[in-house]
Formats: sequence, structure tokens, C-alpha cells
Amino acid sequence: MTQRTLALTVCTSCNKTIPPRSEATKFPCPNCGEITIWRCKKCRKFGRNYKCPKCGFVGP
Ligand SMILES: [Zn+2]
Ligand SMILES: [Zn+2]
Repeated sequence: MTQRTLALTVCTSCNKTIPPRSEATKFPCPNCGEITIWRCKKCRKFGRNYKCPKCGFVGP
């Protein structure tokens, strides 16, 4: 059994893995612009906050 190391995308709000082709959204951090924020469908729907892991910016 071979284990492949994939760069998995994780929702910035809930830390769940975002499967490819799911209806997630991504955008650069509005504050520092260096981190790509990912939000899964659910977090978008519920309007959960996200926090940039680099600069600590919290946004809706
Ligand atoms: Zn999420
Ligand atoms: Zn940031």
C-alpha cells in the first residue's frame, strides 16, 4: 500500500479537508494577502468566521 502525500486543502474556518471539485471558495487574506483563505460550502452558508494563520486577521 502506497501512501501519497497530497497537498490537501483545509477549510480555514472549520479545519476540515476540502475535497477537490467541491463548492468551496478561496480568496487571499484581505489583510496580508499572503495566505489563501479557503472556506467550504458549509462555512459559507453559516457565515462562520475565518482566521488568517499568518496575521491573525479574523473576518466574516
Ligand atoms: Zn468549513
Ligand atoms: Zn493574513
